[in-house]
Amino acid sequence: MIPAQFEYVRAGSAEEAISLIGEHGEDAKMIAGGHSLLPLMKLRLAQPSVLIDIGRLTDLSYIRDAGDHIAIGALTRHMDVEKSPVLAEHVPLLAHAASHVGDPQVRHRGTIGGSIAHSDPASDLPATTLALGATYVAQGPNGTREIAAKDFHQGFLTSALSADELLTEIRVPKMQGAGWGFQKFNRRAQDWAIVGVSAWKRNGESGIGLVNMGSVPILASSVSSALAGGASAAEAAEAAAAEAEPQADLNATPEYRTHLAKVLVRRALEQAGA
Ligand SMILES: Cc1cc2nc3c(=O)[nH]c(=O)nc-3n(C[C@H](O)[C@H](O)[C@H](O)COP(=O)(O)OP(=O)(O)OC[C@H]3O[C@@H](n4cnc5c(N)ncnc54)[C@H](O)[C@@H]3O)c2cc1C
Repeated sequence: MIPAQFEYVRAGSAEEAISLIGEHGEDAKMIAGGHSLLPLMKLRLAQPSVLIDIGRLTDLSYIRDAGDHIAIGALTRHMDVEKSPVLAEHVPLLAHAASHVGDPQVRHRGTIGGSIAHSDPASDLPATTLALGATYVAQGPNGTREIAAKDFHQGFLTSALSADELLTEIRVPKMQGAGWGFQKFNRRAQDWAIVGVSAWKRNGESGIGLVNMGSVPILASSVSSALAGGASAAEAAEAAAAEAEPQADLNATPEYRTHLAKVLVRRALEQAGA
């Protein structure tokens, strides 16, 4: 449980972090809240020789109304997402999902950017921002680019970010009064989801994100198509696992996860319609 030896450098700006990554190459890793990277380092599943601390880049910690969307700085802590009045008004599903991440200690340290960049299918926020149709902003040595959430997750713990890119902002469309539902099935209140669902719907449109139903966060497009075609919540939920590739672990078999996904999608859609 003791990480391998590493050097520690603190970046004073996004530009400095990117330049330090360029200087130290592939053996360097950025650390934000450290609540995903440090456990991996303690298990020696990750052994970066240089840690570049971006956790104090306070200019990347903000939640702003940007017209048709809410702009969230990547270094914004889960607790600030949970408590944000702006998100409560315009994207309540995301604020609610953040309130279900781990325990208060985890939510005070972990960042929304770290959660999304880490690309863990068991995390609550990537599936939620995917369901909401978010766009991510990445900054690298050659400037900035936007990546749609649906193109971001490319495999287990693998994202579209290149090694020298920093995720700087998450842009989440306003929900404009859409109904929403959130379901997280776990053994104990503060555990990771065995399966989780974030869902919204409004006038024939919908978005359903699934947690822990494959190697990446899953967008359940078949459920949205069924709803658009007039299916009820219960009928549409039968398609919950159409895009998923659930894995077995100590908590559940793939068959159990598939069953759970159908039940939880139905419940989330019923919440959204209530
Ligand atoms: C006990 C415990 C319980 C937890 N429970 C849950 C839970 O129920 N649900 C849940 O969703 N999560 C849970 N988490 C994970 C938590 O949400 C993490 O904080 C989050 O996943 C990662 O954010 P971080 O800022 O800590 O990232 P870090 O651990 O600092 O970084 C994670 C990875 O992302 C990279 N990275 C970080 N920020 C950026 C950036 N801005 N640009 C590019 N790359 C970046 C790092 O280089 C690293 O590879 C739990 C964690 C712990 C320790």
